[in-house]
Amino acid sequence: MKCSFVERLRVRRVGEITYYAVDERDLADVLKRLGLYHDVVEGRGRCYFCGVPVGLGNLGGVFRYEGKAYLVCNSVKCLYEAAWMIARKRQ
Ligand SMILES: [Zn+2]
Repeated sequence: MKCSFVERLRVRRVGEITYYAVDERDLADVLKRLGLYHDVVEGRGRCYFCGVPVGLGNLGGVFRYEGKAYLVCNSVKCLYEAAWMIARKRQ
């Protein structure tokens, strides 16, 4: 359920808007590019929506909003909120 949701987000969103649904293979690269790698690895990262500590085990995605990059945990609710927030901003 979680995986297929992320898959759909990625197909729909990446390239269209700046949202990264992260796949384990390029997770580290994406995080390093956004300057969030150390936060996640050291446990300082937080989900933008629910505030839960985000580590490599529960990272759902990364998105950029108004020039800053934020982490999202892997709860479907938070991923959905991220997608909505970005979609609204574009309209
Ligand atoms: Zn969350």
